[in-house]
Amino acid sequence: MCSSQSTLQIAIVGGGIAGVALALDLCRHPHLNIQLFEAAPAFGEVGAGVSFGANAVRAIEGLGIGKPYELIADRTSAPWQDIWFEWRRGTDAGYLGNSVAPGVGQSSVHRADFLDALAQQLPPGIACFDKRAVQVDEVDERVRIRFTDGTQYECDLLIAADGIKSSIRDYVLQGLGHPAVVPRFSGTCAYRGMIDSETLRAAYRAADIDEHLINVPQMYLGLDGHILTFPVKKGRLINVVAFVSDRSSPDPQWPQDTPWVKNTTQADMLQAFSSWGDAVRVLLECIPAPTLWALHDLEELPGYVHGRVGLIGDAAHAMLPHQGAGAGQGLEDAWLLARLLADPHVTAENVKPLLGAYNDVRRPRACRVQRTSLEAGELYEMRDGHVSDNEQLLSTTLASRFDWLWNHDIEVDLANARSQLGWQ
Ligand SMILES: Cc1cc2nc3c(=O)[nH]c(=O)nc-3n(C[C@H](O)[C@H](O)[C@H](O)COP(=O)(O)OP(=O)(O)OC[C@H]3O[C@@H](n4cnc5c(N)ncnc54)[C@H](O)[C@@H]3O)c2cc1C
Repeated sequence: MCSSQSTLQIAIVGGGIAGVALALDLCRHPHLNIQLFEAAPAFGEVGAGVSFGANAVRAIEGLGIGKPYELIADRTSAPWQDIWFEWRRGTDAGYLGNSVAPGVGQSSVHRADFLDALAQQLPPGIACFDKRAVQVDEVDERVRIRFTDGTQYECDLLIAADGIKSSIRDYVLQGLGHPAVVPRFSGTCAYRGMIDSETLRAAYRAADIDEHLINVPQMYLGLDGHILTFPVKKGRLINVVAFVSDRSSPDPQWPQDTPWVKNTTQADMLQAFSSWGDAVRVLLECIPAPTLWALHDLEELPGYVHGRVGLIGDAAHAMLPHQGAGAGQGLEDAWLLARLLADPHVTAENVKPLLGAYNDVRRPRACRVQRTSLEAGELYEMRDGHVSDNEQLLSTTLASRFDWLWNHDIEVDLANARSQLGWQ
């Protein structure tokens, strides 16, 4: 436990990026008693990259984890340090333009390194593993969580950070008089792999392809597909995600008994991009054993809180990865909640209005990020109704499209939440 003088008992269910980041910040405040419950036997992330926009990097710094992040994160070297992605035609790698985020550019990290860096700083006794929450109820101003092992835990406040398949989301929605929400398949699948950057460099040299395409994060665009590359592990690995979309159905379905992530073959991946150019072909030929991810998101929820229970991260607003923003939104949730809960005004009596302020401030922005993430995929894949395959329009649209997302001021969010609570 954080402190023997704790006054407010908070449970966090789910030890992904959002849950661990929140736990780490809350643990620093002696009036809070934090317990984190994770279903798996240990913290774990997939072996892939994750990139953070300028807004997410500010949330990381605000959560007090800026230094460990800096130690493991990749930045593109000068003179391209401000570029998020360069945009290129998939067929011939022709340059279409770039998106620039001054001061941050592309900030990326290996997922497992990031979660490790967070988890290592959690004081002992905060995290409990092999604890899968299955049921929640509220009795006499307390929340009771039941786990599959038959145990239960009582607290003043429960924050569910249990991901897109959240088991606690339905409790909140039911409380709001809304039917359960299940993740929806987007029709898009992503081939993922990591390439040793020296291997890719040698392959590009042999094929006479410009190594600039390795040095600067790239996004290759085409009809119903796009491919991104950025470095992780201080440039030793190149993270590759190759998206293909089937837009033949307005309501695509992923077979119920099929896992969302599975192994696939290089031949299958190469076939999906067979009409694309050499830069893409050589890139994909360096991934002998890709995985295939069926991408799901959530519809926009009518609310993130009910009673003494709140949702953060993908449990609240899982989105498509096309703006590289999902984890960053979870970090913004964690930052705002942590700032509110750290305030000395907080007692077991006022956590409901506090959650209400969190919901009112965070939900409109997270919903907009969900919506624009879906739309970004259509834009990249030449299916935007206005831009279509007009390269000039594509280039000017992409140059400024993300500014509102990256330039958001989370301090204004906090001021608005505090004002709603009457904490001036
Ligand atoms: C292909 C792809 C690329 C992406 N790229 C980016 C990117 O570049 N940038 C970005 O910001 N985002 C990106 N995202 C999105 C990002 O991965 C997610 O938004 C983020 O990881 C969600 O974190 P989370 O902590 O909310 O949930 P999760 O990471 O899903 O963590 C949930 C945790 O809860 C645990 N759990 C689940 N159920 C229970 C239960 N009942 N009881 C206890 N524990 C439970 C799970 O074991 C897990 O540890 C990408 C997503 C995909 C699919």
